[in-house]
Amino acid sequence: MNRERFAPSPTGLLHPGHAFSALTAFEAARDGSFVLRIEDIDVPRSRPEYETAIYEDLAWLGIDWPMPVLRQSRRIPDHERALQKLINMGLCYPCSCTRKDIQAALSAPQEGSDIGPDGVIYPGTCRGRPMSDRTHGDAVRLDMRKAVAALKAPLRYTEIGESAGDYEVMSDTLVTWAGDVVMARKDIGTSYHLAVVVDDAAQHITHVTRGMDMMTATPIHVLLQKLLGYPTPLYRHHRLIRDDAGRRLAKRHDALTLRALRHQGKTPADIRAMVGL
Ligand code: GLU
Repeated sequence: MNRERFAPSPTGLLHPGHAFSALTAFEAARDGSFVLRIEDIDVPRSRPEYETAIYEDLAWLGIDWPMPVLRQSRRIPDHERALQKLINMGLCYPCSCTRKDIQAALSAPQEGSDIGPDGVIYPGTCRGRPMSDRTHGDAVRLDMRKAVAALKAPLRYTEIGESAGDYEVMSDTLVTWAGDVVMARKDIGTSYHLAVVVDDAAQHITHVTRGMDMMTATPIHVLLQKLLGYPTPLYRHHRLIRDDAGRRLAKRHDALTLRALRHQGKTPADIRAMVGL
């Protein structure tokens, strides 16, 4: 039985791109189950009024979900347990680099500055520091070379929907193009990648429906699932919803939030038509 989820972050108002994700997941779960998860670990950017707006907008669209809703910030002890497992496997190191330090290291001669799923690829300044060296102000990074070397089997996953197919992620690709991604930010003790993987497993999610912009993060998620012994769900990365100028809708489009569209008199059927459902 399939189990789908919609996992918004309450850091702004939802727009039709979110409606497309949520409706696609909700409708795909008709014969299974659908859960809503509030991804509020980014404490400085998350706001209760955005969480309230998520509930209002989704209910308006005709979506319902079981209560109580799982709020990711309550799950940090579980994320920390998973982090400890990766640490015990010898795959992590503490990192004290600021964005500025990273930029400075990257502007040094011979260093590349490729862009990966989390921005510039970390140049590895703190790699080799032992975990026992971790201080309060340190983040924790995954040593990607060690992580891919610890894998027992090739990294495969299956996409359904618009990009359907069986995918294999090459170890070199993860090392050069994702690099040593952050597992725990210094301020919140977890990270998007770790939290999403731990919580999808805890909620027994079988199908992950989200925008195409998240597709580059998926190899990292599949890697973490394998390392932590979790099953890998099926992924459905859907096309992105764009404005009339062809720009991807984002939280900065104030006039195109679901709330604004509703106040302009648009109906849920109008939103469905807008996103091509
Ligand atoms: N919380 C993430 C966001 O709102 C989405 C996470 C996911 O679907 O994997 O961008």
